[in-house]
Amino acid sequence: MPEPARAVRWGQTVARVGNWPPSASSSYDLAAVRRILIVVAATIAAPAGGVPLPEQAAAEREPEPPQFAHGLPTNGETGRRWLLLTFDDGPRPSNTLLVARYLAREGIPAVFFVNGIHMMGPTSYPQRNRRIVAELAAMGFEIGNHGLTHARLGPLLAHETAKEIVENEELIAEVTGRVPWLFRPPYGSLPLVAAGIAEARGLTVVGWNLGTADFIEQSPQDILHTFRKRLEKHEEEGVRGGIIVLHDAHPWTVEALPLLVDWVRRRNCELLARDEELYEFVDFRRFWVPRGRHPGPTPPDARFPANEPTVGEALAWQGRERRRAERYCGRP
Ligand SMILES: [Zn+2]
Repeated sequence: MPEPARAVRWGQTVARVGNWPPSASSSYDLAAVRRILIVVAATIAAPAGGVPLPEQAAAEREPEPPQFAHGLPTNGETGRRWLLLTFDDGPRPSNTLLVARYLAREGIPAVFFVNGIHMMGPTSYPQRNRRIVAELAAMGFEIGNHGLTHARLGPLLAHETAKEIVENEELIAEVTGRVPWLFRPPYGSLPLVAAGIAEARGLTVVGWNLGTADFIEQSPQDILHTFRKRLEKHEEEGVRGGIIVLHDAHPWTVEALPLLVDWVRRRNCELLARDEELYEFVDFRRFWVPRGRHPGPTPPDARFPANEPTVGEALAWQGRERRRAERYCGRP
């Protein structure tokens, strides 16, 4: 048995957050979720929709590595100082590769949740966007599904919802050669039907807990300010890190990104001096928890906290980060 995580010197007792494990008195109705799943499966099977059965899709996917498939929905809540960068609503020729190249130079992983609408058609704009997404994947970034047209899923019929999810998935697979297993519904809104489709297709639903409000025009300094305030508020509540949402659709976000990264690194200098746990920019692996931990239909509003590392993992990861911080903070 590994020791509890609180034995790590610079860690502190980790508060379990969110609604894990869900209590018997939870407000959702599992029978209703099951009924919806049956309706969704029937809708997907309807020939008019032209969308493959979940079983057929699974069979077609067999050669693909099931990385991040069948994970519990997460909004990034964690008692660890883990930060995952996610970028929505791309690709955009003016911004996306600037973001990716900066992250690659700094050795920071990220997930790009893309909309297929920007990659459809024979003209040079969508073709350029397809090459951008292929390049992101080749650089090692994770590509996630953010819906074909960025439609709000709530008002859609089941076959329209399936089209948003499945056609975007197929487009991403065609462009990158890899089936995306991460799904972020537009506006973070996941109606029952969409939750059922995501679950039937093995998608892992990814929310966020660190918004930056960069979807409205802001100065890069204001985006950093919003991020800092939210991070600090979470820290007071025992949620130390999480999933950051940014939008590479906007030039101000491209400018804000290095400010945000530099702020985190300067903050790490203070934490290092106090011998506290440091922030780490991590990939999605840290937030992925197999759905087998919670068998049965997952209610669409459920979000589960990230895994706790073993003491050995925490020591190794933090050791790397501390060596990096020592070099960075030693700069004049
Ligand atoms: Zn979006």
